[in-house]
Amino acid sequence: NDFINKNFRKEELLIRIHNMMEMYEHLRKIENQIIIEPLTKVYNRFYLENELEKLFKYYSQKSVAMLDIDFFKKVNDTYGHQTGDEVLKNFANTIKSVVRKSDIIIRYGGEEFLIFMPNTTKYEAMVVVYKIKKTLKVCCGVVNYTFSAGIADEGDTLVEMIKLADKRLYIAKEKRNLIIVK
Ligand code: GH3
Ligand code: MG
Ligand code: MG
Repeated sequence: NDFINKNFRKEELLIRIHNMMEMYEHLRKIENQIIIEPLTKVYNRFYLENELEKLFKYYSQKSVAMLDIDFFKKVNDTYGHQTGDEVLKNFANTIKSVVRKSDIIIRYGGEEFLIFMPNTTKYEAMVVVYKIKKTLKVCCGVVNYTFSAGIADEGDTLVEMIKLADKRLYIAKEKRNLIIVK
């Protein structure tokens, strides 16, 4: 991004390097702001649509889990939106604390989170999601909440796999607080 003539002063070179590094840091921050959802600090839909497709093709075995908080509207209505936001953060943090480093968490919708798990079968993914369920704690001292989940490892494209997980989530929602894998 820059050049300097051969007979330069040391100070000039150092200042230029310093400026370049500042610019790099700045760009990295902006890049992060584009792909990270500010409330829960997980990836957003932009990341899903631009990066996850590449990862999907890279791994031959992978699973997708779609998690949706049960009766979340009621949480907002009963305790207010601020508490609702705290529940979302609490949920995202619980997911982060359970999944592997290589797993990718995305806020898919308001209270819907998608987990992409490389090198994982849907039955292994079910164990992970079950652990999330077991790890969930009461939020803000009052909100005892659950979630429903649909999991899939079938499909030739990311869109197909997500569709299938979503279909299973829909079935789980008939009873709620359920995890469906087939
Ligand atoms: P179900 O058990 O069927 O999933 O019902 P639900 O109430 O969880 O689902 P519904 O789709 O009816 O409501 C989702 C609510 O999530 C509605 C919306 O106001 C709320 N919501 C979406 N995004 C946010 C957010 O960022 N903060 C808060 N506090 N609420 C949000
Ligand atoms: Mg919900
Ligand atoms: Mg929902």
